[in-house]
Amino acid sequence: MKVLVMNAGSSSLKYQLIDMDNESVLAKGNADRIGIDKSFVKHKAGEKAQVVIEKDLPSHKEAIEVILSLLVDAENGCIKSMEEIGAVGHRVVASGEYFKEPTLVTDESLERMKKTFELAPLHNPAAYTGVMACLAVMPNTPSVLVFDTAFHLTMPEKAYMYNIKYEDYVEYGVRRYGAHGTSHRFVSGKAAEYLGKDPSEVNIITCHLGNGSSISAVKGGKCVDTSMGFTPLAGVCMGTRSGDIDASAVEFLATKKGMDIHQILTYLNKESGLKGLSGGYSDFRDLTANVAEGGVKGARAQLALDIFAYNCKKYVGSYMAVLGKVDAIVFTAGISEWNGFIINNILEGLDVYGIEVDKEKNTDSCPVPVKDITGPNGKVKVLVIPTNEELVIARDTKAVVEK
Ligand code: ADP
Repeated sequence: MKVLVMNAGSSSLKYQLIDMDNESVLAKGNADRIGIDKSFVKHKAGEKAQVVIEKDLPSHKEAIEVILSLLVDAENGCIKSMEEIGAVGHRVVASGEYFKEPTLVTDESLERMKKTFELAPLHNPAAYTGVMACLAVMPNTPSVLVFDTAFHLTMPEKAYMYNIKYEDYVEYGVRRYGAHGTSHRFVSGKAAEYLGKDPSEVNIITCHLGNGSSISAVKGGKCVDTSMGFTPLAGVCMGTRSGDIDASAVEFLATKKGMDIHQILTYLNKESGLKGLSGGYSDFRDLTANVAEGGVKGARAQLALDIFAYNCKKYVGSYMAVLGKVDAIVFTAGISEWNGFIINNILEGLDVYGIEVDKEKNTDSCPVPVKDITGPNGKVKVLVIPTNEELVIARDTKAVVEK
C-alpha cells in the first residue's frame, strides 16, 4: 500500500508518499504561502530533480490538487494514477483527551476533531482544513488522523495534573498534554530495537531537541512524563520559547512592559528562549558561530547554550529519578543530530550514574539510523537516532485502514 502523509500548517502543507511494502519514500515536498501571494509547491520524486511550481494557491484544496498532479505527472511524478494511493495519513498536533489513538476520518471523528481546535488554535484548524481539502479531491480514499500528543496520554494522573483546582481540570481539560509524541514514540521504539529488547522491557529518556524541544520519560514503551505542558511553551529553553517560567514573573513582566495577556504570550513564544537570551539568535548554527567570534555577542550566545544544556540536564536528572533503572538516553532532532557538543554538555558529570559519552564517537553529524556514543565505562546507552515522524504516521494509517 502507498500512503500519502500530510502535515498541514496554516499556510503550508508538507507531504510524503511512502510505499509501505518497503517503507521507502517515493516523493516528498511542500506547498508554501497558501492563501498568501507568491505561493509555490516544491516537489521531489525519488532520484529525479526537484521541481518548483509557482502557482496561485488560494486554499489547501488547490495545493492538494497541484501535489496530486505532480505525483502522477509523467516526467516528475512517481505513480501512474491517484488510485494507487491507498490511504492518506494526517498529522494532527493536539488530541486533547478526545482521541487516544489514530482514528479513521468519519463524520463523527471530524465533529470530534473540532473540539480540539482551542487546544492548538494555530495547528489543529489547519490540519482540519487539510483533511477537508483531501476529502474534496480524493473522496474515496480512506483518511486517518494521527495525533502528536496521543503517545503522552499514558502519563499517570500525578504526572499530567497541574496543581490547580481539580474541578477546573475536569471542566476545562487544563493539564499537561506534551508534544512531539510521534517522535518520542519512534525513537524510543528504535532504541529498544537497537538494544535487542521489546519496548516493554526497557526504560528510556528521549530528548527531542530541535527548534521546539521536549524530553520524555518512557517506561516499558509507555510515556510516563514529558517536559512540555498544556501547550508546547513549557519545559526546557527553546529556539524562541521561554520554557518553564513562574506565572507570577509573567504577570510582573506584562505589567512593567504594558502588555496584555496575548502580547506577553507572544513574547514568551516568539521572543524568548535562545533568541531572547542571545540577542536575536534562535538557531544553533548562528549561536555557535557567535561563540567562535567571541566578544559580547559570543558571551551572550554561550550563556544561551549553557542555559539550554542546563535545562535539559535537569529534566534528564528528574526523569532518571522517575524511572529508576534507565537503559538508554536517546537524542533526536536537528540540535542533537548536528551539535554533538551539546550532548556532552547535557550529560557532563553524570558518570557517577553510569552515564558516559564517548566524545570521539560523538561527532557533529548523524548519518546512520542509530549512532551509539556510549563511553567505554557507560552503563546507560547514549544514542543519537534521527526521528521519522512521517513513517510513524504512515504505519499508523496503514494499520487503521487494514483493521
Ligand atoms: P524543527 O523541525 O523543530 O524546526 P529541527 O529539528 O530542524 O527543528 O532543529 C532545528 C535546530 O537544529 C536549529 O537550532 C539548527 O541550528 C539545528 N540544525 C539543523 N540542521 C543543522 C546542521 N546541518 N548543522 C548544525 N545545526 C543544525
